Amino acid sequence: LTADQFVSGLAKVRRTAPGEWVACCPAHEDRSPSLAVKEADDGRILVHCFAGCSFESVVSAAGAKPEELFPAKPMQKDHAPRFPFNPATVLRALAFNATIVAIAASDMAQGKQLTVEEKDKLFDIAGEFNEAVSYATR
Ligand SMILES: [Zn+2]
Repeated sequence: LTADQFVSGLAKVRRTAPGEWVACCPAHEDRSPSLAVKEADDGRILVHCFAGCSFESVVSAAGAKPEELFPAKPMQKDHAPRFPFNPATVLRALAFNATIVAIAASDMAQGKQLTVEEKDKLFDIAGEFNEAVSYATR
């Protein structure tokens, strides 16, 4: 499986850098891209959902098997770059969230009450940003 083939099965795919994409995550209800995908130099396909879905759940929801994303030889942990994704990819995966927050703020300024779902979504968004920070600094 190539990274091209992997992302071709996903929704709202957008290339953010050479060999890097964002797309809607197939493992959760994702209306805007939260999933970063990268073809590593050694041929591995790296995926990361900024909403917190596990690697296994993303891969199986995409109809693939974990071993299809990795070359035959076992990967060495210390070969994995600490922060593999281009910052543009991460920002793209989070960008739409800022718009949702702005819309909610504008609604609230007009005296509109948030629904429970909208409030939950805002908390999820805070979680995604925190996830991105811990991902970038681990
Ligand atoms: Zn997800």
